[in-house]
Amino acid sequence: MGLDIVKLIYELSRDEYERHVREPNVYWVSDLVRCLLKRNYELIYPELRMREVFIPTLISGNLIHRGLQSVLKERFGGNVSVEVEASREVVLPTGDKVVIKGRADAIVSTDEGRVGIEIKTSRSDLNIPHEPHLEQVMIYNWLMDLNYSLLIYITPDRITQFTVLDRLTEADVVDRISSPTYPRYSWECNYCTYSVLCPYKKVVSSK
Ligand code: SF4
Repeated sequence: MGLDIVKLIYELSRDEYERHVREPNVYWVSDLVRCLLKRNYELIYPELRMREVFIPTLISGNLIHRGLQSVLKERFGGNVSVEVEASREVVLPTGDKVVIKGRADAIVSTDEGRVGIEIKTSRSDLNIPHEPHLEQVMIYNWLMDLNYSLLIYITPDRITQFTVLDRLTEADVVDRISSPTYPRYSWECNYCTYSVLCPYKKVVSSK
């Protein structure tokens, strides 16, 4: 078989998946802005999560991320870092210590200080900016001590940015882990890989 670009794209998608290794005492920022139960299921049933490697909308979103990150590097040179990882240990009310980890798409050093860049792709611009995305960026502002962040949306209808100055506190973060609600948003179950086995699944009637 000759040149196979599709295979290359799926290899990239698998590499991206393997970078998000699940560890029992680590909470990714993305876990804190969605149903926290998904994290538990990902630990128990990692093979179910593998299907994400083959979802075209996720793959095209990753390719757009890579493209914009390359453009930022071209334009800002040494003043930009991409895929910046940070972590902080927090203590839960039980006394257990857990690690909060996050990876910002990019951080640019400017006259105003360090500015986070978070890139989102979506099928439409309806209701942007979405609450979980705003919260994710507010946690990055806390975790990485950023001056502020820009939430960038790339959609077929609109390409725009929102400035996010707010930050969550350590107490907010601890509260999300120690007092979770399942699901965090009722619509989540419709798109959840684990809805096939979850007793907390909320069925939203279309009537
Ligand atoms: S089905 Fe709903 S409640 Fe269960 S893990 Fe998924 S999102 Fe959470």
